[in-house]
Amino acid sequence: METREHIKSASRIVVKVGTSTLLYDNGKLNLYRIEQLVRELADLSSQGKDVILVSSGAIGAGVVRMGLSERPSGVKEKQALAAVGQGMLMHIYDKLFAEYGQVAGQVLLTRDNYVQHKQYNNSRNTLLTMLKMGVVPIINENDAVAVDEVKIGDNDNLSAMVAALVDADLLIILSDIDGVYTGNPSKDPSATLIHEIKEITPHIEQIAGGAGSALGTGGMSTKIEAAKIATASGVTMCIASGSEKGIIRRIIDGENVGTVFPPKEAHLKARKGWLAFGKRISGDLVVDAGCVKALKSGSSLLAAGIKQSEGEYTIGDTVRVLTEDYQEIARGVINFDRNDLEKIKGLKTDEFKVLLPDNDHDEVIHRDNMVLMI
Ligand code: ADP
Repeated sequence: METREHIKSASRIVVKVGTSTLLYDNGKLNLYRIEQLVRELADLSSQGKDVILVSSGAIGAGVVRMGLSERPSGVKEKQALAAVGQGMLMHIYDKLFAEYGQVAGQVLLTRDNYVQHKQYNNSRNTLLTMLKMGVVPIINENDAVAVDEVKIGDNDNLSAMVAALVDADLLIILSDIDGVYTGNPSKDPSATLIHEIKEITPHIEQIAGGAGSALGTGGMSTKIEAAKIATASGVTMCIASGSEKGIIRRIIDGENVGTVFPPKEAHLKARKGWLAFGKRISGDLVVDAGCVKALKSGSSLLAAGIKQSEGEYTIGDTVRVLTEDYQEIARGVINFDRNDLEKIKGLKTDEFKVLLPDNDHDEVIHRDNMVLMI
């Protein structure tokens, strides 16, 4: 319940809305729901809270605008439709926010805006300035031009990155389901809602592993990934149903709706968030119990504690650090490539110095370049 109490005092709030909330099953825009959403957000803004909306739905809106009967499967066609639909969506949002006396502004991001330090600072400054001016930023991934390499890929992760970027207090992810269940409810009718997830264990990742709806792209697993980013960045996250009337107000009133994820205590410095979450994960390192203890108390990751390594990573890539039962405890930027790491894992620093005389790093991941996920 503590987490729910904490939510009441949230003053900077990011709300992400999925395609399945914005569109009817027949693919047409659910204007009633979009209007409800805008009204709730405008009301928060009237209360003096900072509000940011991360909205999907551009391709869906493009399909409607072009009068197509279904989504095309080709990437180029989808990108063209995103360009059409993004404009249409913004027009609707702008019109509705204006009706409530608010101004909305569009920001389109790609992974690069997060990975490149200069762009990271720039995106952050733009968003903070918009908030200061009382503008509601409406964010989407720049689908029309983003190619795979620079794509974040889903708006669940994007919304968590945005929440971390602006030091939000709360991230609300609205979905076609009212939270995380003990199993995928579309396959398991006996599954029950989990009200609070304190720790994202391998078990939680496993129950959220099923694919999402036909319209949505993320499913529950990208929402769990988002929760990791948000909570490690000091942001409380809540997954709730986008079809329930007044849901945002109820969450902020501290009602026991949806699934909440309490934030980790150590609030990350913005620089670390940029390092850990901007880049794709290129590999995994499994470490022993002693090493887990050392990392928790703030040490760098040394080769001696590493038992196993997976993935094709090279120097400067981001990797995850896992316990022996595969719980993620940290992620960070690695100082070795896979070949070298295979040679030195389990060895003490003075032992491996002989094997790799050209490498001048003592740490596999330096603590300054590492974020704890527990
Ligand atoms: P959105 O478009 O709102 O982002 P998705 O449809 O992509 O939402 O994801 C939500 C869906 O994830 C649910 O409707 C459900 O089918 C699926 N799902 C899989 N595992 C779970 C789980 N453990 N709890 C809840 N939903 C789950």
